[in-house]
Amino acid sequence: MAHVIEPASSGRAKCRSCDQPIAKGEFRFGERQPNAFGDGEMTLWFHLPCGAYSRPEPFLEVQSTAPPEARVEVESLAAAARFGIEHRRVPRLHGAERAASGRAHCRSCRELIAKGDWRLPVVFFEEYRFNPGGYIHAHCSREYFETTELLDRIRHFSPELQESELAEVATALAMPSPPAKPAPE
Ligand SMILES: [Zn+2]
Ligand SMILES: [Zn+2]
Repeated sequence: MAHVIEPASSGRAKCRSCDQPIAKGEFRFGERQPNAFGDGEMTLWFHLPCGAYSRPEPFLEVQSTAPPEARVEVESLAAAARFGIEHRRVPRLHGAERAASGRAHCRSCRELIAKGDWRLPVVFFEEYRFNPGGYIHAHCSREYFETTELLDRIRHFSPELQESELAEVATALAMPSPPAKPAPE
């Protein structure tokens, strides 16, 4: 079966990307994958923005078959999906937060992320799931993501952030990035 965009028939499915429920009647994106546990296929469900941000290739495949009532939203999200394909690491971005401790190393510059600094969690889609993949300094975005136009995604995946906090994140994103370093052996 092809991927699908349709209204949710119940409120029971959770979004694969953000792990929040998808409300009954809300449009959802279903990515079809071979069943990992047996025959046939299974469907991974996403909120529309979560699908466009986290799974841009399958999202673009289904764009033209979206129901008319969802077209306007799907077309604007398709632009975000194309941005994620042009910047191949951007779909890994999963929000922003202040570092709760000073123990994690940045995946880009490999330096410690100081407690209280803004960091961006990244996730990797593997085995049909999004697995935590560590953190990037907000100021290392230019080097790691090859763009700093990330605030729409950060706002989406970290809805708890206040405008004043988003402004701090934006300031950090705009800073020059130290060079990326390869992972230590
Ligand atoms: Zn979601
Ligand atoms: Zn860094």
